[in-house]
Amino acid sequence: MTISFEFFPPKSAETQAQLGQDSQKLASLKPSYVSVTYGAGGSTRDGTRITVEQMRAQFGNVAPHVSCIGASRADVQALLEDYRAMGIGRIVALRGDLPSGYGHGGEFMHAIDLVRFIREKFDNQFFIEVAAYPEFHPQARSADLDLQHFVEKMKAGAHGAITQYFFNSDAYFRFVDEAYARGVDQPIVPGIMPITNFNQLARFSDACGTEIPRWIRHRMQSYGDDTASIRAFGHEVVTDLVDQLLTAGIPGIHFYTMNKADPILKIAEALKLDGFVGLGRAG
Ligand code: FAD
Repeated sequence: MTISFEFFPPKSAETQAQLGQDSQKLASLKPSYVSVTYGAGGSTRDGTRITVEQMRAQFGNVAPHVSCIGASRADVQALLEDYRAMGIGRIVALRGDLPSGYGHGGEFMHAIDLVRFIREKFDNQFFIEVAAYPEFHPQARSADLDLQHFVEKMKAGAHGAITQYFFNSDAYFRFVDEAYARGVDQPIVPGIMPITNFNQLARFSDACGTEIPRWIRHRMQSYGDDTASIRAFGHEVVTDLVDQLLTAGIPGIHFYTMNKADPILKIAEALKLDGFVGLGRAG
């Protein structure tokens, strides 16, 4: 079973130093790899590279995200050659979202075009992860079509997938069953988002199409500005979700860390996960 942590490139020297401390704490959980996000249109190109280097020194195994919207084939090839020269062997291949008003541009329409390009130029030199949406992508024209696009993306040469975060485990299990029924056989790893700041989470979830179940939303809203209760309840909800997924059997787990260690360390402690290695539980 793989365990991975996702970080984003910090914007200032202060947050960069803070990330160094938080990622160091997470190193105690011995992740299989960590990943670093990439702003669509190359907006964090330098920041991503700096963070990838920082994480590589700390963890060894780092997967930079590469998004293709608005990019040229030459840009993407240069980026990937740079990563190969650094010894990177794993990437997360995405379409990305350009801010509204930027039009489309670029030479890639969808993530599948990026997967095909990587396989054409680099064959098997990268282990390629792609994105999956158990509750469907917000722009999907239909659930069936979205699933079909996902299946085609996997068959185009992806080695695995990481899901958007979710709070309905049934959505994940059904999505995996349906993808497997359509011939996917690569791992589909659930992405887990700890809940610490409910207002921020609600905004993200509206934008990315994740449903926050009514009972969670109502409980959270009832806490108002009581951040301690929000964190405590969020911790219980996400710990139960991870427990349920681990019990059912999953190929791995990917945490959206939001560059913070403590919420994840608390979940690991509550579930007595033995360094997350080999799914061993300590108690
Ligand atoms: P695609 O697989 O291209 O799908 C996007 C939409 O297009 C879907 O509705 C799909 O049904 C449709 N589609 C796909 N193929 C076709 C086709 N052939 N014809 C017609 N329609 C099609 N964004 C970033 O900018 N940077 C990041 O670092 C980043 N990391 C992420 C990590 C994970 C694990 C996840 C789940 C998402 C991440 N995102 C990131 C967000 C992602 O870029 C957006 O969700 C984006 O809108 C879709 O990206 P995708 O790779 O899933 O696109």
